[in-house]
Amino acid sequence: MIIKSAEFTVSNTKISKLPPPILPEYAFIGRSNVGKSSLINMLLNAKGLAKTSQKPGKTQLINHFLVNKTWYVVDLPGYGYAKSSKSNRQEWAKFIRNYLEKRESLQCVFVLIDSRLEPQKIDIEFCCWLGERSIPFILIFTKADKQSSVKSQQNMAAFKKALLAYFEEIPQMILTSSEKHLGKDDVLNFIQEVNQN
Ligand code: GDP
Repeated sequence: MIIKSAEFTVSNTKISKLPPPILPEYAFIGRSNVGKSSLINMLLNAKGLAKTSQKPGKTQLINHFLVNKTWYVVDLPGYGYAKSSKSNRQEWAKFIRNYLEKRESLQCVFVLIDSRLEPQKIDIEFCCWLGERSIPFILIFTKADKQSSVKSQQNMAAFKKALLAYFEEIPQMILTSSEKHLGKDDVLNFIQEVNQN
């Protein structure tokens, strides 16, 4: 898919103020610092569209970006940062839960996983939370350029194995590097296919 246009539309904390659920949308989520903003910018050929390296604990917003005037990328706040307060975490949980459970136009959640790490409990738990609610998701492994491809493959295989304890079918996995533009076509082709169905 060719990206012809990508524009920031709106930031929200309230479901009621989101754009009307008319166009298909794809939500990006992961632990803080996983490389989510970099990935969104890489996919949309836009350097500063999603803000990289925002301090954890800052105002947490749902950001909508309209792409090719026909679908949305949705940038969700990162989860699982140790520094944010308990009330902050609960607030996160409530409004993200709301969005993920109720958004009619949400097609798929892209769960971002740091390809350098062995399976992290918080990521597995989040996948299970989505699975229990039948919310479609795929796994995007980030920062592939930071280690050997063998190491990335090992960590992906370990994640798959960890998920097999809970899932019969493992969702699609895509290895990416925003630095090297790896995996870009795989993610965009996935979106294109869903958009066409
Ligand atoms: P976010 O908090 O999930 O939005 O993460 P960011 O996109 O802000 O990235 C966190 C840090 O990781 C930044 O310093 C990025 O430059 C770096 N980073 C993100 N993606 C990649 C990648 O693919 N390769 C490398 N080498 N660094 C990356």
